[in-house]
Amino acid sequence: MATTVSAWGAPAGKAPLEKMQIERRELGEHDIYIDVKYAGICHSDIHTVRDEWGPANYPLVPGHEIAGVVSAVGNGVTLHQVGDLVGVGCFVDSCRECAACREGDQQYCEKGMVGTYNATHYSGEVAQGGYAQGHVVDENYALKIPASLPLDKAAPLLCAGITVYSPLKHWNAGPGKRVAVVGMGGLGHMAVKIAAAMGADVTVLSQSLSKLEDGLRFGAKEFYATSDPETFTTLAGSFDMIINTVAANIDINATLSLVKRNGSLVLVGAPENPDTYSAFSLIGGRKSLAGSMIGGIEETQEMLDFCAEHNITPEIEVISAESINEAYDRVVASDVRYRFVIDAATI
Ligand code: NAP
Ligand code: ZN
Repeated sequence: MATTVSAWGAPAGKAPLEKMQIERRELGEHDIYIDVKYAGICHSDIHTVRDEWGPANYPLVPGHEIAGVVSAVGNGVTLHQVGDLVGVGCFVDSCRECAACREGDQQYCEKGMVGTYNATHYSGEVAQGGYAQGHVVDENYALKIPASLPLDKAAPLLCAGITVYSPLKHWNAGPGKRVAVVGMGGLGHMAVKIAAAMGADVTVLSQSLSKLEDGLRFGAKEFYATSDPETFTTLAGSFDMIINTVAANIDINATLSLVKRNGSLVLVGAPENPDTYSAFSLIGGRKSLAGSMIGGIEETQEMLDFCAEHNITPEIEVISAESINEAYDRVVASDVRYRFVIDAATI
């Protein structure tokens, strides 16, 4: 039997989120039922329900940073047991057959991965996200949360953590590499912590110096304000890799001027309107402009284990469901230190 659960979602585009009831499917052979304990608020949730990435489908329950406890399993489940601590990130299925899926890059599935919300399962079922008291997911798309990570702090790793871990690893952040992180919000502060743990020499490029002490505490060696034009002369040609996590448009050409010869500017921030750049900003130094989207299932597990091993957790503020709309406004105003996490008991 399908289960009805309490959730918080948007009834229509740009409308405030409100309490609603949604259905979770009956457990299939390979499904697990998760009692959701915490759900992080990602800026992508806000872009989606405010139709900034195009019209979404409503009613819509966001949430793709989900942490909880397994409370029931289907007959064929072998990967998880009742009582296990598990997480769900940005997708809940993929074709499992294409080259991307076979290589562990399920997020780039050629058939199209099934997003955790604002998406439709291959079966036709509407996928609703994690701002809910319960969730049903295929066992292959749930991650194991290491026991040393508190569940509330584990939640944001499922999107913010993996979205920066994957490109930092792909572009070889590590000893001897200078890495800059643009924007120190949910993703950005995790990028600082993870890149520092990988051994890279990390610099933060923030709008102002207001988060300087935090940045240094998270492991950055240097911290500069992008509002100060001096920053762009002091740091010209300095970085092997720059990861841009800003949710709004940035000056791509000015940022590329800080990249070393042969270095890369990697975009993970996904603003509503396209950024523009000049080819001259790239060809002068054989520079690369690249993008990256979350990470695959195996890599997400690797990231969780890495964070447990290096004792890395996000800085969070746990909120009740009633505060979601206020929290959204604070995220947009860059007034978040550094991730809001909803206590699912209040949903
Ligand atoms: P967030 O917590 O709001 O952080 C974004 C940071 O960008 C802010 O803290 C701020 O940092 C900076 N910023 C905000 N507005 C700015 C502006 N107008 N000009 C310059 N800087 C500004 O957001 P998030 O959850 O980390 O997400 C960041 C972006 O990544 C979003 O667009 C989100 O949709 C996207 N995202 C992409 C993926 C992917 O797979 N590629 C996954 C998740 C999220 P400072 O105050 O330090 O400047
Ligand atoms: Zn996200």
